[in-house]
Amino acid sequence: MSVAFGMLWDMESPALIARVVLDVPARALTDPFDYAVPSALAASVAVGCPVAVPFGPRRCVGYVVALVTESDYAGALKPIDAVLGTPLFDEHALALAEWVAEEYIAPLSESLKLFLPPGGAPRVVRSEGGWRFEGRQMAPASEKLVMLAEGSGFTPSARASVQRGVLEALSAGPVSLAELTVEYSSAGTAVKALEAAGAVTTIERRRYRRPAGASASAPRHAHSAEQASALREIEASAAAGGGIVLLEGVTGSGKTEVYLAAIEAAIAHGKSAIVLVPEISLTPQTVGRFRSRLGDDVAVIHSRLSAGERFDQWQLALQGRVRVVVGARSALYAPVKDLALVVIDEEHEPSYKQGQSPRYHAREVARRLCKARGATLILGSATPSMESLHHAETGAYRRARLTHRVGGGTPAAVTVVDMSAEFGDGHRSIYSRTLQDALGDVLQRGEKAVLFLNRRGFASFLLCRECGYVPECESCSVSLTYHEGTGRLECHHCGATHPVPPTCPRCGSAYLRKFGAGTERAESELSAIFPTAPIVRMDADTTSRKGGHEAALTTFENHASAVLLGTQMIAKGLDYPDVTLVGVLNADTSMHVPDFRAAERTFQLLEQVAGRAGRGTQPGRVIIQTYWPDHPAVRAVASGDSAVLYAAERADRLALRFPPYGRIANIVVSGPSAPDVRQTALDTADALRAILPEEFELVGPAAAPITRLKGNWRWHMLLKAPEDATLSGVISAALGAARPSEGVTRIVDVDPVGML
Ligand code: ADP
Ligand code: ZN
Ligand code: ZN
Repeated sequence: MSVAFGMLWDMESPALIARVVLDVPARALTDPFDYAVPSALAASVAVGCPVAVPFGPRRCVGYVVALVTESDYAGALKPIDAVLGTPLFDEHALALAEWVAEEYIAPLSESLKLFLPPGGAPRVVRSEGGWRFEGRQMAPASEKLVMLAEGSGFTPSARASVQRGVLEALSAGPVSLAELTVEYSSAGTAVKALEAAGAVTTIERRRYRRPAGASASAPRHAHSAEQASALREIEASAAAGGGIVLLEGVTGSGKTEVYLAAIEAAIAHGKSAIVLVPEISLTPQTVGRFRSRLGDDVAVIHSRLSAGERFDQWQLALQGRVRVVVGARSALYAPVKDLALVVIDEEHEPSYKQGQSPRYHAREVARRLCKARGATLILGSATPSMESLHHAETGAYRRARLTHRVGGGTPAAVTVVDMSAEFGDGHRSIYSRTLQDALGDVLQRGEKAVLFLNRRGFASFLLCRECGYVPECESCSVSLTYHEGTGRLECHHCGATHPVPPTCPRCGSAYLRKFGAGTERAESELSAIFPTAPIVRMDADTTSRKGGHEAALTTFENHASAVLLGTQMIAKGLDYPDVTLVGVLNADTSMHVPDFRAAERTFQLLEQVAGRAGRGTQPGRVIIQTYWPDHPAVRAVASGDSAVLYAAERADRLALRFPPYGRIANIVVSGPSAPDVRQTALDTADALRAILPEEFELVGPAAAPITRLKGNWRWHMLLKAPEDATLSGVISAALGAARPSEGVTRIVDVDPVGML
C-alpha cells in the first residue's frame, strides 16, 4: 500500500476507534477503553478480535467489543499495537457476556472469558527485552474413541472389574478413552487388553469417522403417551419462536428419551442443541447414550478432559462439525451454530451456579440465551426447583409430566422411623430397631444395602432427643446454630443470639443435645451389630486419595452381599441393581442447615437417595430415620406426593419474601482481622440502607454460618428485592460508597444457591 493512498484514506474516512476490554484481572476494569486503529490494521480488526494494546507502562491483551468513529475521551488516543487473531466471539456472545457482567456484578473481561475457547486466548508474558505475546498454545488434539467390536462374545474374568465396567459403559455406545479414564483410572490398560482380545476397537477421533455399528446398540422406543405429549409441548414452543418447558419426571420415567427425540428433531431442521448435565453425572454411560443415538454429531465438554481435548471439542462446535454439545455448566458458552434447543437436566442442582466470579446461574443464563436466539429451553427434573415450579404455575413456562417409570421397576416402599420414639423406648443406637431388622434380613438374603449419613450441614444445632425440637430464629425461620465458644445460639441471617435453654422449651426434657454423628462412629456401631458383614465406608476421608472413590465402589461391587456406608457423595450417580435397602440414618441434618432452601434440599436429597433402591428386578425398601417425621420433606417422600413439600414451602417463602417470591443477593465480607471485617460489614450495610429502594429489604449483617474459613473471618448480609428487580445497581453504588478496610474483601452473590 502506498503512502499516498494511506493518507487519502485517512482524510476521507473518519478515523476508526476500537473499544477494548482489557484483560487485567487484578484491576477488575469493567469499562472498555478507546484505542485508535492504525489504518494498516483497519482491515483485520473486528468485534471479538484479541488485540495487543499499551496500558500505562505495560502491554496487555484486550478484546474488541465495538468499532466506532467517535470517542468520549478528550485526549489523544493511543493506537492498537497488533491484532492478535480472528474474532473469538460474536455479537450474540458479547450481548450475553454484557448481561452476565451486569446481572452478577462481574467485570466484563471475566464474563467474556466464559466464551473464549479453553486455553485458546493469547497472553502477555514478560521476556528479556520487555513484553511478548504468546499466541494460542493449544493445537487441536486428537482423542481415541472406543467402541464394542461386533459379535466378539468375549467375557472378562470375574476379577477384571475395570474391563467389565468398560464393556458395560460401551454397551450404551462409543465413549472416548479420556471419558472412560474419568471413571476408571486404569481404563487405558483395560482397553488395551480388551482390544487385544478382540472385544473392542478404537479409532482416532480426528478422522471424524462415523463409528461403525453404533446405532445398533441404541434402543429407540415407541414413545409413551406422556412422552408424546411432552414432545408436543416442545414442538409448540419451537413453533412459537422459543420458550421454556418444565419437564417433571422421576428417574427412569423417560426424560432422556424426550431430550434425545427433541434434539433429533432440531438436527433434522438443520439446527443445534446444547445439553447441560451436572458434572457428576457426566459418566461414560450418559455420554455413550448420546453418542449412540446422535453419532458423530456430539461434542462433549467437561472439566476433567485435558485442555487439548476441550479445545478440540470447542473447535468441532465452532466449525459446525457437531450439532450437539453435551457438558457441564460451561458448555452453555460453546459456539454452536443455529441454536434451537438447550436442555438442562436435573435443573434443580446447585452445581449450575458458578462458585467464583462471574457467579452466574446457568439456568438464568440459558433463559436469557434462548430468549435472544428464539430457542427452546427444556428444564428437566424429578424434583424441580421452587423457582421453575413458580414460573410453570404462573404460565410463563410450559409444563409436561412423566408420572411413572417406563423402564419397569416399581418405586421403593418408604418407611419413616421416629427417632424420638426410639429414644423414649430407651433405644439409643444410631440404628433404629426397624433398620437393624431390615439390615439383618438383607444380609441374610445375600443382598446389598446402602446407608446414607447426612452430613450436609456442618453447623451444629441443638435437638431435643425426646420430642425432636430444634430452636429456630423467630424472624428468619432458620435453625439457630450452636456455638461451642460462647455457648450461645445464633441466627446466621439476622445476627440475633440467645442463651441455650436449660431444658427443651417444648416438652421440658433435659435431653437437649448437640446433634451429629460421624461416619467412623456409624461404622464402628454397625460392625458391632453385624460383626461378620462386609462394610465399605465412603466419605471425604476414605476417598481423598486419588482413585479412592473408585476403589470403594469396586470393593462394594465385588462383594455378593455388603453394606455401603457413606456421606452424601453416595447419593448421586450410584446405580447398583442389586441394592434392595437404602437407609437414611439422620434426615435431620439437612433440615436444619441455616438456609431458607433447607427443606427443599432435604426433599431433593431424600428423593434421590430413595431412587437408589430397587433399580433391578427385586423390589426395594427405603428407611428414613428422623426426629421430625412430620417434616414436609419426609412426608412428601413417604407419600410420593411432592405437593406436600411445595405447599408448605410456598407459605413460608411468601411470608419472608424468599425466592421464588423475591430475589436475593448475599454479600459476604471476609478478611484476616475480625474487627475490620465486622466494621466493613457494618459500613457496607449502612451504605446500602442509605440508598435502599422502598421495596427492598436488608437482613443483617451477621456472622456467616461458616464464621471462619481458611484463616478469614466472615460476615454476611442478605438483600431482598422484588422478584423482577435488578439488584446490581444498588449494590454497586453501595460498594463504591463504603470502602472496605485494608485486607478485607467483599463478594456479591446474586441469586445464591447456598448461604454458608
Ligand atoms: P430418565 O432420563 O427420566 O431417567 P430414561 O430416558 O433414561 O429416563 O429412561 C429410562 C429407561 O427406560 C431407559 O432404559 C430407556 O431406554 C427406557 N425407555 C425410555 N422411554 C421408553 C419407552 N417409551 N418405552 C420403553 N422404554 C423406554
Ligand atoms: Zn423436647
Ligand atoms: Zn434471624
